[in-house]
Amino acid sequence: MASYIILLGPPGAGKGTQAQAISQELQLPHISSGDIFRENLKKETELGKLAAGFMNKGELVPDDVTIAMIRERLSRPDCQAGALLDGFPRTPAQAEALSGMLAELGGQVNAVPYISVPAEVLIERLTGRWTCRQAGHIFHEKYNPPQQPGCCDLDGSELYQREDDKAETVSRRIRVYLEQTKPLIDYYQQRGLLIEIDGILPIEQVTASLLAALPHNG
Ligand code: ADP
Ligand code: ADP
Repeated sequence: MASYIILLGPPGAGKGTQAQAISQELQLPHISSGDIFRENLKKETELGKLAAGFMNKGELVPDDVTIAMIRERLSRPDCQAGALLDGFPRTPAQAEALSGMLAELGGQVNAVPYISVPAEVLIERLTGRWTCRQAGHIFHEKYNPPQQPGCCDLDGSELYQREDDKAETVSRRIRVYLEQTKPLIDYYQQRGLLIEIDGILPIEQVTASLLAALPHNG
């Protein structure tokens, strides 16, 4: 049966970093809702313009829009055997919608690693994050610096600081996470799917804990 894994955790926990590190090993495509919104913004689509209004304020894009976007993405051939979801679901309504979508696709959520990191660490992680323009590769000025400042090690494209990684917006996003996304910890725990991972360790050690905790073919 197709295997869908959800990476859960607050903004800055390391979901994107870990998804980039393990997606190949797990043989699952990395599906990041934030990356899809940013791609749309780059291409100036209607979806991109609509999403940007919420993203720049640190608020969630409305459920109906987000759910429709993910439904379309998961229906593509590369997700037939499963996917590694990063940043979706983020509300109980999204979690319910996902379970319906996966049932239609003949799949189910197999595991939900929750990357836990104390709130005070998140601000430093997000305000020091540098993201690659080309493909969203993630760096940190202190914890994962690129070889050349401002330049992506993987594809040479420019690194930039996301508009929503400014200190004021970051605190807003953490509040929104606590109100709207944190309830998903209980939701998946009750379904026996939650695996808690200590996200305070260095990047490579978090990757090793994730791979040890997840069922995979590697
Ligand atoms: P998320 O996708 O959960 O918002 P990211 O993967 O983008 O988080 O990570 C946020 C920032 O923290 C990035 O700059 C990243 O390089 C850095 N980071 C990720 N994991 C760790 C870690 N284990 N220790 C230190 N810094 C990390
Ligand atoms: P982070 O790396 O901090 O976890 P993301 O790149 O996942 O951030 O998301 C950036 C922004 O995109 C969010 O603050 C929100 O505005 C929007 N977004 C991403 N995923 C979702 C979602 N599942 N539901 C609603 N909004 C979302």
